[in-house]
Amino acid sequence: MTAPEWYTKGREHVWLPYTQMKTVRPPLPVASARGTRLTLTDGRELVDGISSWWACVHGYRHPHIEQAVARQLETLPHVMLGGLAHEQAYTLARRLAGLLPGDLDHVFFSDSGSVAVEVAMKMAAQFWLNLGQRRVKFLCFRGGYHGDTFATMSVCDPDEGMHSLFKGALLEQIVVDLPRTAEDEAALSRLLEQHGTGLAGIVVEPLVQGAGGMVFHDPFTLQALRRLADAHDLLLIFDEIFVGLGRLGDAMFACQIAGVQPDIVTLSKALTGGTLPLAATIASRRIHEGFLSDDPMHALMHGPTYMGNAMGCAAANASLDLFESEPRLAQTQAIGAQLRTLLEPARGLPGVKDVRVRGAIGVIQLDRPAPADLLSASCIANGVWLRPFRDILYTTPPLIADEDDVALIANAMVSAVSDWSTGIAP
Ligand SMILES: *Cc1c(COP(=O)(O)O)cnc(C)c1O
Repeated sequence: MTAPEWYTKGREHVWLPYTQMKTVRPPLPVASARGTRLTLTDGRELVDGISSWWACVHGYRHPHIEQAVARQLETLPHVMLGGLAHEQAYTLARRLAGLLPGDLDHVFFSDSGSVAVEVAMKMAAQFWLNLGQRRVKFLCFRGGYHGDTFATMSVCDPDEGMHSLFKGALLEQIVVDLPRTAEDEAALSRLLEQHGTGLAGIVVEPLVQGAGGMVFHDPFTLQALRRLADAHDLLLIFDEIFVGLGRLGDAMFACQIAGVQPDIVTLSKALTGGTLPLAATIASRRIHEGFLSDDPMHALMHGPTYMGNAMGCAAANASLDLFESEPRLAQTQAIGAQLRTLLEPARGLPGVKDVRVRGAIGVIQLDRPAPADLLSASCIANGVWLRPFRDILYTTPPLIADEDDVALIANAMVSAVSDWSTGIAP
């Protein structure tokens, strides 16, 4: 079947993400989507094993979200938040404050994850500036990923964040390994002692480093970071853009699972259930109070045009309704349990380094860079959309994926990896 005209005519004009355009494997034209399924323009149906970059937690076109967005479109699609207010943003802010632990009560909206992290970094730096202290650097971690803009690149893994490529253009941060033991914690404490007062805070993806290769760590790491932040008077920023909003199954947010209260949290990806771009940076009362002043220059100096977009906020409110009315966390745990069983046969295959599952995240890690096109094509042939990167083939299915969906995904992963593995075996 021939590709549609919009595709053939538009192809040379669309610059794709993270893609060498010279050798690009043609993207698949999608006609529609519903639930866990994508329908391609040639009629093929694929189960989306990665929820469109981890966002589409309730599946595509959940009627409750669809109706909320349609209703909003008819009354108020968007209005600026500078000087004007609307119901969806105010309701969403109140609900997020209620869901997050402790006094994480002050919500600043933006439109993408990277910007939410930018805002968190700016908030932290300006918090100290308002107190008359110049502290603009951050402690961050190898394997971390916080976005693609310049400030966020600076707190990403140095290799993945291309620190050397953009040397001179990026802020120089202090990048270390995540502390996993008491000795690591003590060593990090000594390092922080040396760096003293130049640091504004610590930026970390709690419990799972996502784009850095789906690497897990224990609550201990986050508890250690909280202790270090307190001892050295640093702000602790949890970037929950990937793990927040149910992905880990045990609670809505990683900070709750770890029993640690950060000073600032960022959310995006699943916030609107994968429907519209929206992000939030949520600060504790102490941080917010650091901006209350008679000096106009002490106001948080940020304001994206589309912040708090009404349709995005309507989608997010509808998404939170679904977390309340449907057993999403239990479904997430069931997906995890099934993945744990079904991915296990990949362990021990030649070329396979690790198989691991946390929440609804299933990972087969290879001992070398993944042959992405080969693995992806094999999964597509088996009716599953996955996008391997670095050394992993992973799935982050929609949290509504049923047993059949999960089995299809996991079996496609194991089959793709074992075929490849047979090919490389001596
Ligand atoms: C995806 C992601 C971001 C960046 O979000 P964008 O919406 O792509 O800008 C930041 N932090 C984490 C942890 C992410 O997973």
